[in-house]
Amino acid sequence: MENITLLVDIKRNALDDGPGIRTLIFFKGCPLSCVWCQNPEAKSPNKELSFNKNICRECFACIEECNQNAIDLSYEFRIDRTKCNLCGRCIEVCPNSALKFVGQEYRIKDLVNIILKDRIFFQNSGGGVTLSGGEPLYHINYVKDLVKELKKEAIHICIETCGYYNREKFYELILPYLDLIYFDLKIFDSELHRKYCNVSNERILANFEDLIKKKSIKIVPRIPLIPKITDTQDNLSKLADYLKKLNVRKIILLSYNPLWISKSLMIGITPKYDYSEFLDKKNKERIKLIFSDFEINDF
Ligand code: SF4
Ligand code: SF4
Repeated sequence: MENITLLVDIKRNALDDGPGIRTLIFFKGCPLSCVWCQNPEAKSPNKELSFNKNICRECFACIEECNQNAIDLSYEFRIDRTKCNLCGRCIEVCPNSALKFVGQEYRIKDLVNIILKDRIFFQNSGGGVTLSGGEPLYHINYVKDLVKELKKEAIHICIETCGYYNREKFYELILPYLDLIYFDLKIFDSELHRKYCNVSNERILANFEDLIKKKSIKIVPRIPLIPKITDTQDNLSKLADYLKKLNVRKIILLSYNPLWISKSLMIGITPKYDYSEFLDKKNKERIKLIFSDFEINDF
């Protein structure tokens, strides 16, 4: 088993994203491209160089070290990514870790060993592993081997998905090993979904409906509350009506966090959406009421 993939991060001892104490695995790469993506560093399936100007000491050791002339002070994001070959020399000489790679390769056996370090905490808290991203199912061949190994060890497995997957493959290779699915639903109108997420939502909704009808596993829809895009009265009422018709009564509302904007700049991407405030309490209450009118509650 030499299956290998790129991960953005592994977060141990997490208390969100599923029951109990969990290890969260963030895969790199996603078939969608939402303009507000809260983890922009997980969108591309490729390794990237990030530069954090807030902790740069301006010593310019990196410029001296780069033999591709890819670090340029006149350049908006400091790195000219058309020249950078990801050699990593600048990272090695940076005294403040202002430069780093996003994306590290993990073999399945190494990842499983990391996960198993916390088995006792999973057992005592009813926790386990949550596969997140990016989109874990973008790496379906890796994930199929990973979930098989974890199931042999009786680890509880939750997956967070954008729903844009090949249903046949998912049912055959992944679903039998899962304990819980967090299924993201963003925008009900297909054209708006295409506009803001780069793909239409027909496949996502069809996958969701089929999964709900199967009744083989617990599925919890998650709705990201993105100001002026997903959190509108029109969108949320349509989603609530849709969920009620499918007899879904519990959802998770995900609050907007504007910190993604600085993460985006660090990898040299200018955000196409720039709402920079956190969701306030009053707005969240308004949103909860929309769903409670349809007898649906936030967890
Ligand atoms: S080496 Fe690091 S601290 Fe020095 S200029 Fe480059 S990024 Fe900044
Ligand atoms: S990773 Fe290598 S090529 Fe890219 S900026 Fe750093 S030193 Fe230059």
